Parts: sequence; structure tokens; C-alpha cells
Amino acid sequence: MFERLPVPFGLVRYGVAPDHARIKSVSQVFDRVAESDRFQFFGNVTVGQAVSVSRLSAHYSATIIAVGASEGRRLGIEGENLDGVVQASDFVGWYNGHPDRCDLPIALKNCRHVVIVGQGNVACDVARILSVPPQRLASTDIASIALQQLSESAIRDIRMIGRRGPAQLKITPAEMRELCSIEELKVSTNFAEIELNKGSRIELDDPRNESARNVVRLLQRIREVDEATNYKKTLHVDFLQSPVVAQGNGRVETLQLQKNILQGAPFDQRALPTGDTRTVPCDLLVLATGYRALAPPGVPFNMATGFVPNEMGNVLAEDGRPIKGLYVVGWIKRGPVGTIGTTRADSIETVDRMLADFSNGYRFGLNTSAFVHELRQVAITVDWERWRRIDVHERTIGELRGKPREKLTSIVDMLSI
Ligand code: NAP
Repeated sequence: MFERLPVPFGLVRYGVAPDHARIKSVSQVFDRVAESDRFQFFGNVTVGQAVSVSRLSAHYSATIIAVGASEGRRLGIEGENLDGVVQASDFVGWYNGHPDRCDLPIALKNCRHVVIVGQGNVACDVARILSVPPQRLASTDIASIALQQLSESAIRDIRMIGRRGPAQLKITPAEMRELCSIEELKVSTNFAEIELNKGSRIELDDPRNESARNVVRLLQRIREVDEATNYKKTLHVDFLQSPVVAQGNGRVETLQLQKNILQGAPFDQRALPTGDTRTVPCDLLVLATGYRALAPPGVPFNMATGFVPNEMGNVLAEDGRPIKGLYVVGWIKRGPVGTIGTTRADSIETVDRMLADFSNGYRFGLNTSAFVHELRQVAITVDWERWRRIDVHERTIGELRGKPREKLTSIVDMLSI
């Protein structure tokens, strides 16, 4: 297993929210795999730089690309480059202590109003991390810098806006329920002001759309919020709104929103602007509008779809023919949708395809030791034992601070262990 960072676990370590410890525990499955003497880990090796995919293919019977989709999707609105406007992909990396993102200039001390664009599970994660009392995150593996900023924050108001309506919300029921059950958080929504159009009612009545129905039921209950409680923060879940322009003097201060209506066939409804606009205060703007993959060097990539063309995980060449021994899994295989569970099923498909290809005649027992020796000449590689030392170090520091671990955020520090 080749990994750009000195440490393993990618999304589980740097994408899954720190308060979702149960999901993070999936890494224990990999720990068991790593115990096999047929497994080798090469951390701190960038494929495409230290070693090419074609070199890997020359030395291994099969190469599986599992690099995911790490970049945020830009909106293309005016003011997107102002300070205080961040991609959720960066923000999530920041609170999770990702070495590339831990220095993100996030200052929450004077930040009262946050707007999150998008209503998917990433937007939901960001809203929850900003909403829960910070002391509740102190016992997670959240990055210390993020915990400090959250503790000092002046956040009172979080607005999570969706360009379409409640029937098209992409947050799943369990995640929505978790967000709505934060006691210190008042959740309000413009749901009551919205008339579900015919298309949305058809969508909600569809037997396959159980998840959307459950979320809408939750939203309907939000209206019964207890006005007497002294809430610390308010979360507005606003539908049929799109950002138009972020304004401010070097740093974002306000966001202009436009009202939308839906048009199109059920399950294919698009947001159309009505021309109605309003401006809301905004000290931090988080764009949680989905992810995009970077083309892996030396692997065919379809810029239009944003993933590697493949047939059940077997990578296809430009002429549409399967490339022997080259496979993909996860978001780089099918685009940035779906949970870890979806990816698990999807990986099984790829591995089944790979095993079927093996039974149709493949080279086995390739000797990789010369290649490994060559690799160690060009890169400081981190093997599993060394990762274990980093792991123990992080856990030890974490224990002193009442956390499961304190992640090292500097690659130099990781390599010094
Ligand atoms: P997502 O589910 O695709 O949600 C993206 C959101 O951004 C949607 O509300 C989308 O609205 C909106 N959007 C996209 N482009 C926009 C634009 N130009 N203007 C305004 N809004 C725009 O993506 P995600 O939240 O990044 O999540 C990615 C995947 O990871 C999902 O499958 C998610 O379930 C999964 N995930 C799961 C968990 C979990 O299980 N706890 C946690 C995090 C992520 P439209 O619907 O109108 O396109």
C-alpha cells in the first residue's frame, strides 16, 4: 500500500468527523490486514513522483488506485476569493489535523455569522462541529488548533442553505437527527414558508425515497421548537436559496442570496432564480458543494465525469479496452458520492473483477524486493512498524490531554518519530 502521507487511513483519519469515533474504528479492520506478512506499507511515497503507476504495474500483478476525490468544488461566484471563504474539503481537513490544511487561516474569535452552502452530509458535519459545545469535542481526536478556535469562537448564527427544496435535501436521516438533537442549538427552517411543488410531492411519495420522507418528517417537527429555552446558537436550514456574491473589504462580511423556484421533471428538478434577493451577514462562508477528484498521473481520467473510466473497477483505456492489471475503487471509480459502506460494496466488485482476471491468466510471484530497494533510494519510506511508533506517540500525547490521540500535523514531526 502506497500513501502520499507518512500515515495511513486517508478519509477515515482526515475526512470522518472527530465526533464519529465509531465510524473511525473501521481502521481496526485495516490493522488486521496489516498483520499479514504479505502486506507492506510504503508511507510518504507520492505515486506519480517518487514512483509512477507504470513502474508499479511492472512490479505487481495488479495495481488498484484508491485516491478518492480530495478537492472541493468551486461555486464560481464573485467574492469567492475573499478571506473567510473556505472549501468544506479544507475546513474538514483543518479540524481533522491534515498536514496540508492545518494552517488554514481560520479565525473564529470575531466570527458571529457562518453560512454553509450545500445541504449534504459534509455540510451537516461542518454545521455540527460548529454547533456543539466545544467541550464536547475535547475528548475526540479533533486538532488542538481547531478546538482552541472553536472554544474562543463568537459564533451565534449558522445558516445552511440549499439551492433546492426539502425533498431534495441530501443529508441522511441519522445525520439530520444528530444535528437536530443538539440541546444547546435552536434549529429553525424556512420549510413552513415553502410550498412543496407537484414534482417534489411525487418525489416524496416514491416508495424508494424513504430517506427523504424521514428527513422531511424531522424538518416538520423542527417547527415545534421550544421558544423558552436559552439557546447558545441558532442553525437556520434555508431552502431554495443560492449564493450570488460574497462582499467585504478583503474579508467576507455579507453574502447576497437569491430565491429560487424548482423546475423540471420529478427527480430532475433544477433551481431557477426568481430575481428576489436578500443579503445576510457572513463572517465565515463554507462551501460544502461536493468534492472533485484530481486526475491520478499516468491513469486515464474523464474530465467530464470527474472519475477514471472503468468496467466493474477495471480501468479502461481511451479506446475503451480494459487495461490489464489496473483497477480503481471508491470515489475515483464512481465520483464523490456515497458513504464508506457504499465504497465497501464497490470495492468488493473491483476485487471480484481482479480475481476473475487472475483466473484468466496473470503473472504471479513477481519479485518486488529489487523494486523496494530502488524505491528506498529515492524516498524516505514509512513502513507499518514506523507508523505504529507514530500511532503510539499520538496516543500517548492524546492520553495526557484526555483524547484518543493528538494527531501530528507536521510531516517533518511524523518522520522524526
Ligand atoms: P453531496 O451529498 O453531493 O451534497 C452537495 C450539496 O451541495 C447538495 O446540497 C447540492 O445541491 C449542493 N450544491 C452543489 N453544487 C451547488 C451549487 N453550485 N450551488 C449551490 N449548492 C450546490 O456532497 P457532500 O456533502 O460533499 O457528500 C459527499 C458524499 O459523502 C455523500 O454521498 C455523503 O452522503 C457522503 N458523506 C457521508 C457522511 C456520513 O455518512 N456521515 C459524512 C460526510 C459525507 P443539489 O442537490 O441541488 O445538487
